[in-house]
Amino acid sequence: MAKQGVLAVVSGFSGAGKGTVMKALMEKYDNYSLSISATTRDPRPGEEHGREYFFVSEAEFERMIASDALIEYTRYVNHYYGTPRAYVESQMAEGRDVILEIEIQGALNIRKKFPEAVLIFVVPPTIEELKRRLLGRGTETPEVIEKRLKRAYEESDGMELYDYIVVNDTVDECVERLHGIICAQHEKTAVNGELIARMKKELKEMTEQ
Ligand code: 5GP
Repeated sequence: MAKQGVLAVVSGFSGAGKGTVMKALMEKYDNYSLSISATTRDPRPGEEHGREYFFVSEAEFERMIASDALIEYTRYVNHYYGTPRAYVESQMAEGRDVILEIEIQGALNIRKKFPEAVLIFVVPPTIEELKRRLLGRGTETPEVIEKRLKRAYEESDGMELYDYIVVNDTVDECVERLHGIICAQHEKTAVNGELIARMKKELKEMTEQ
């Protein structure tokens, strides 16, 4: 059986360029599976059901909560967002590294359920740059941008709880830093329980003969 994959949570302020970095990471390396979340928000122009998100109704989302089909969920800017369980568990069991691109409450809930997960927070080089990137996207109303900046301020409160802070200066460098961190996570004691147990058992058997 393949060794269990790593669960990596990637968060960052809204507009920090996480999406672009994730896409580049997926294109460059083939060991990653990006989890697709369910949400009750409306699709933005260009977004597709089953690609960026599973866009579902409130009632459908609440059914998913009730049937334990989500490993975590939260409410963010008046909508539900959650991570479907089946995909994450099956991909990890196949030895693939699963990436959850989720916000801080979800990240902290994942850490409680999966203590061996690695939590990475992506930041823009400066806050001026964050604001510039938010305005540059041009798909949100000024009210939503203001809400997101406020939320970014709230989220900065929890940045120090992540395992790693990665600056997104250029996409390529950011991709390499993320890949390096996730590769190193494979060697963590916490994800090598099986290896440790097997070696101890073999050593015990050999020394008992
Ligand atoms: P957006 O509406 O801009 O696509 O996403 C808003 C926020 O929700 C982002 O911070 C994004 O990372 C987060 N998010 C997306 N999917 C999930 C999820 O399944 N769970 C949680 N907790 N947050 C999510």
